[in-house]
Amino acid sequence: MSDQSDFYGSETGHGTGHDERSGSEVLAPEQILCVDCGGTCHLLTRPYLEEDGSQGFRPGDIVAYRCSDCLDRWDIELE
Ligand SMILES: [Zn+2]
Repeated sequence: MSDQSDFYGSETGHGTGHDERSGSEVLAPEQILCVDCGGTCHLLTRPYLEEDGSQGFRPGDIVAYRCSDCLDRWDIELE
């Protein structure tokens, strides 16, 4: 029997060390499904666009959708 003790799995590369950003942004879908009629609701609210190129929404933002079929408006709070 060969008893070779091989140790090759010493991975030192830890990917993400810090995942705590104050200005974390969330993504809002461009379209959602209307719960009333099953149609497509389109995003009305535009995401913010910073000068440094970052864009999106922040947790707690209210985004509005308009259904193209029944014209209902839906306000969704982002998490
Ligand atoms: Zn609808």
